[in-house]
Amino acid sequence: MKINKNYLNLKPSYLFKNIAEKTAQYKEAHPDADIIKMGIGDVTLPICKAAADAMTDAAKEMGNIDTFHGYPSSYGEDFLLSAISNHYKKHIGIDIDENEIIVTCGAKEDVANILDIFDTDTTVLIPDPVYPVYLDTNIMTGRKIKFINATEENAYLPLPTDADAADLIYICSPNNPTGAAYTREQLKVWVDFAIKNNAVILYDAAYEMFISDSECPRSIFEIDGARQCAIELCSFSKTAGFTGVRCGYTVIPTELESDGVKLLDLWKRRQSTKFNGVSYVVQRAAAAAFSDEGYKQLCENINYYRRNTENMTKTFDKIGIKYFGGKNSPYVWLKCPNGMKSWDFFDLLLDKCNIIGTPGAGFGENGEGFFRLSGFGDNTRCVEALERIEKMNF
Ligand code: PLP
Repeated sequence: MKINKNYLNLKPSYLFKNIAEKTAQYKEAHPDADIIKMGIGDVTLPICKAAADAMTDAAKEMGNIDTFHGYPSSYGEDFLLSAISNHYKKHIGIDIDENEIIVTCGAKEDVANILDIFDTDTTVLIPDPVYPVYLDTNIMTGRKIKFINATEENAYLPLPTDADAADLIYICSPNNPTGAAYTREQLKVWVDFAIKNNAVILYDAAYEMFISDSECPRSIFEIDGARQCAIELCSFSKTAGFTGVRCGYTVIPTELESDGVKLLDLWKRRQSTKFNGVSYVVQRAAAAAFSDEGYKQLCENINYYRRNTENMTKTFDKIGIKYFGGKNSPYVWLKCPNGMKSWDFFDLLLDKCNIIGTPGAGFGENGEGFFRLSGFGDNTRCVEALERIEKMNF
């Protein structure tokens, strides 16, 4: 028996383990400390009423012999495909055919699984800093990895040069962890680059609902040419609070081909072979989240989180802390004051303000000296945290 030795090339994932350990140690030493968590990448508000009601109704259907459902379709039920296609049309203003949408359990799974349809002898281009799943899933498959530097100088929105040519290109916009979002003009540069190099862009739009700037597209398919070179991975997790419900979708345009083979057909073949579909109950909830009533409710939740990032950016403007993101994203990526390193700032913030954030160094070399704060928390607690930071006089 031989194991997949590529797994031995993975670096241990210390980031969240270290945060948990440091927090536990601090709590033990300071049992009365009122700690505010601002590092969390998970949502905190419950799913919207329309989705919860639809889930209850669907669960009742499953318990009745006349309305019970067995295996779902491997690609998604028609009612959800139609709701997603309608979402693209109504809220984003583009036509995506239901046939080009494949419903899945979430973007993390898709980011990993989509690699099945590409040759392992491919080079991938990954930004640094990065959502670690892109990197680790490619290490696991032994692909050649190139990094493109996202830095303060390029406002965490790198654009490609000839040296960045690769077969697969990962773009996450709005970005986790930096909160930066590409404009239409910038994404057009990436699309032209992908077409020129015969590359495929894997576009992670998990945070598309947070975009408020009309310059920034919510889907890569708003860009001319993207249908020839891009796959979009999206999710109900951050859009509708489905992190614990699990539902996402991948869009592959019918035009996207390699040597005359449609990537959509490969992905459908992969899914029907390895996946038995998303549960009926979950699909009903997802469709309800994209109904008119559901969409209104989930926008209220997004606005709730936006209040946190607005308050953060206002405070940082006031006290002169440099930051990126926050406007089109639930994340604010701040420059640690006084040239501090990410983990030193983590310790200081925990010790002096009893606030927990996420050290940027955990997302890649270029994250050193930066720090991620998340807007997925309670409004009142966020205000309290910002008052504590303001008093610090950095
Ligand atoms: N993509 C990005 C950039 C993320 O930050 C996350 C989760 O934090 C995901 C994908 C995972 O989404 P899902 O919950 O749909 O698996």
